[in-house]
Amino acid sequence: MIKRISGFFNTFLLIELVRGMVLTGRHLFAKKITIQYPEEKTPQSPRFRGLHALRRYPNGEERCIACKLCEAVCPALAITIESEQRDDGTRRTTRYDIDLTKCIFCGLCEESCPVDSIVETRILEYHGEKRGDLIYTKPMLLAIGDLYEQQIARDRAADAPYR
Ligand code: SF4
Ligand code: SF4
Repeated sequence: MIKRISGFFNTFLLIELVRGMVLTGRHLFAKKITIQYPEEKTPQSPRFRGLHALRRYPNGEERCIACKLCEAVCPALAITIESEQRDDGTRRTTRYDIDLTKCIFCGLCEESCPVDSIVETRILEYHGEKRGDLIYTKPMLLAIGDLYEQQIARDRAADAPYR
């Protein structure tokens, strides 16, 4: 009975509505947490796991030694590597593909790499328009590495104490 009476007064006095308005008013003047993307962007961690890149040493030599650890560890089977021995006895990849439609951006490939070759960059804005556009080949991955090497090196250095 008491419940029904209090329910009647709550409805009659628009208590629920007032509570809602108070809540709205509280957030109306609070600091905004939404941003106007893409003009505004949220801060990114140096550990951000975006688009992949293959790195080179400062002398231009590819870091990757075709050990295939990244291919073996990838849970999504997104990496395909083929390799051969060069005349100088070193081994290098002849094919290094990452299928980004399979990739789950877990970061295991970069964690497993013994020479800091395959890394994930801060790049998150990329797209494909037709079938196969999101299969990134070795030349594409090296080109990303060349373009963003300074940023990648800074991020790896910042993250080094935690690895
Ligand atoms: S981030 Fe994970 S899923 Fe993507 S290629 Fe690397 S190991 Fe595979
Ligand atoms: S990227 Fe690293 S882990 Fe993958 S094959 Fe090359 S050296 Fe090995």
